Amino acid sequence: MSERLRPLGLIGGMSWHSTATYYRHLNERVAAARGAHASARISLQSLDFSEVRACQVADDYARSGRMLAEAGRACEAGGAEVLAICTNLMHRNYDDLVAAVDAPVLHIADAVAEAALRAGHRSVGLLGTRPVMELDFYATRLAAYGLEVVTPDLEDRLEVDRVVFEEITQGVFRTTSRDLHVDIIRRMSDRGADVVALACTEIGLLVPAEAAPLPVLDTALVHADALADLALDPSLPLPLPRPPVPARG
Ligand code: GLU
Repeated sequence: MSERLRPLGLIGGMSWHSTATYYRHLNERVAAARGAHASARISLQSLDFSEVRACQVADDYARSGRMLAEAGRACEAGGAEVLAICTNLMHRNYDDLVAAVDAPVLHIADAVAEAALRAGHRSVGLLGTRPVMELDFYATRLAAYGLEVVTPDLEDRLEVDRVVFEEITQGVFRTTSRDLHVDIIRRMSDRGADVVALACTEIGLLVPAEAAPLPVLDTALVHADALADLALDPSLPLPLPRPPVPARG
């Protein structure tokens, strides 16, 4: 009998399009490592994204924090030993979740920073929602690893944010939006980025790595890969919560 798989807890549905990426990738990693019928042990709490989105629009992150805390506790009740928030933006509530659960929570930016450093990158272009590109909670976490962070200019940030919420989190993938993202990545490359983090978990569904003018870190896949490593090798140490990053917002 093969070694026990560590059970994972996913807080997803933000949007479900990218949670499907996590689910597929985790199961593919486990099947590849353990054989055809092996599959990941997952406790999934898939939230109603319209409720989460309402919190974002109202800037009510206290409420979304309570929603994530409740979902995290439900994952633990389902047996999860390590938890993940399957979106970049909702890591604004990372500390609320950590405070509400006993299981460790693998921060998506930690997985991204470690993958960037492993691949020898130094300067990460950040593509995501406006809070991810503009507030400290995400970039500061990357910078703590010694990485430089390059963000698009305001006009490009507005466009990426618009595409995230008006299109890709609703399952709409347009060639014009893909081309726009390719142009924005090129402009970040001109400003010194040597890799781009697709720091919205749906952008990887819009921009295939081969279309990007820089090496790509698809945060959904990078995060799922780090979770798969923890699931497959229960002797790997679990991530420890780190002190909160000082936040501007
Ligand atoms: N999935 C997106 C992200 O990774 C945005 C959706 C959201 O959580 O608001 O940031």
